[in-house]
Amino acid sequence: MTETLSPDARARAPRPLPKPGILDIAQYVPGKSAAEGVVDPVKLSGNENILGSSPKAREAYASAIDQLHLYPDGRANILREAVSATFKLPPQNLVFGCGSDELIHLIAQVFLEPGDNIVQAEYAFGAYAIAARACQGEVRSAPEPNFRIEVDGLLELVDERTRLVFVTNPANPTGTFLTGEELRRLQAALPPGVALVIDAAYCEFADDPNFDIGLELAQEVENVIVTRTFSKLHGLAALRVGWAYAPEPIIDAVERIRAPFNVNIPAQLAAVASLGDEEFQQKSIALVRQWRPWLVQQLGGIGLDVIPSQANFILVGFPPGKSAAEAEAFLARRGLIIRGLAGYGLPNHLRLTIGREEHNRAMVEALADFLKA
Ligand SMILES: *Cc1c(COP(=O)(O)O)cnc(C)c1O
Repeated sequence: MTETLSPDARARAPRPLPKPGILDIAQYVPGKSAAEGVVDPVKLSGNENILGSSPKAREAYASAIDQLHLYPDGRANILREAVSATFKLPPQNLVFGCGSDELIHLIAQVFLEPGDNIVQAEYAFGAYAIAARACQGEVRSAPEPNFRIEVDGLLELVDERTRLVFVTNPANPTGTFLTGEELRRLQAALPPGVALVIDAAYCEFADDPNFDIGLELAQEVENVIVTRTFSKLHGLAALRVGWAYAPEPIIDAVERIRAPFNVNIPAQLAAVASLGDEEFQQKSIALVRQWRPWLVQQLGGIGLDVIPSQANFILVGFPPGKSAAEAEAFLARRGLIIRGLAGYGLPNHLRLTIGREEHNRAMVEALADFLKA
């Protein structure tokens, strides 16, 4: 911890000092996007869509060229209507963000005052802790035995200062999931004044019959928020579009602090077009669902500890004596960039985004060669 300065000491400081806690935040480190000495490496470190984005979305994006001087519609009404119709959700229960990342920050700002806390799981997505700490909130992390979020572990950490519980479902970087039943049990056991935030960034890739996005639960109760994104399935990560479903009182609060023009015009147009392109979505989902079991089987077969995944990526653990960091470097030399997870407390694991056939085959071959060496 850096030294905590009183308001008085900050008033007398020789230069502007960030409020207490800010300098304790470790900056988010994204997956690598380049490999030294390799031209055109394949980026499988960010869970982006390997097929790119919908041709219809690309066309819609290009059509915005004559509107660059205009402020976007602050309510994102075209996108609101499209999401509302696609998912059968009331438009007044939706809020749109510059990525779901922004929505996570807004939710933290709405609910956390200094000394409040959030509860999350051990390997939770880094954005939750950053958002909480920026509000001078405390971060409590429940263990994830076998890389799975456990409802009871989360509940044990909830106290009278808990305002938010975050679960990623399916989770990143583990790929594991909570069943619909577990989500309901978690919600039912929380005090009604604690909001449960379900980050469903990867929900479209799940195919387990026990998986549930949580949108029905969210419509039955007053304390569930579900966040979604256009960054993964839709392949629009560059445009930064996310949305959330929440009960109206929560939407009302978030809307009061949201930057008024946070989703830009090309992003709104492309997102609407992408939602309408079911063929692209189906192709993207089918690719992941086709290669996920193959990769799990192959990677397990060469001696890696493979965590079963419901997302578009797979977490693998390295056997004793084999370094994940060395494997990451070895793969990079072959033009395959994947995600090191030391920052998530998983120094012996790597996370790889599922690619196209040639990438997946090259991945298995390279990892087999690494393990043999
Ligand atoms: C990628 C990802 C998101 C999406 O973030 P955006 O800001 O919408 O791009 C959200 N949550 C998790 C856990 C993710 O991995």
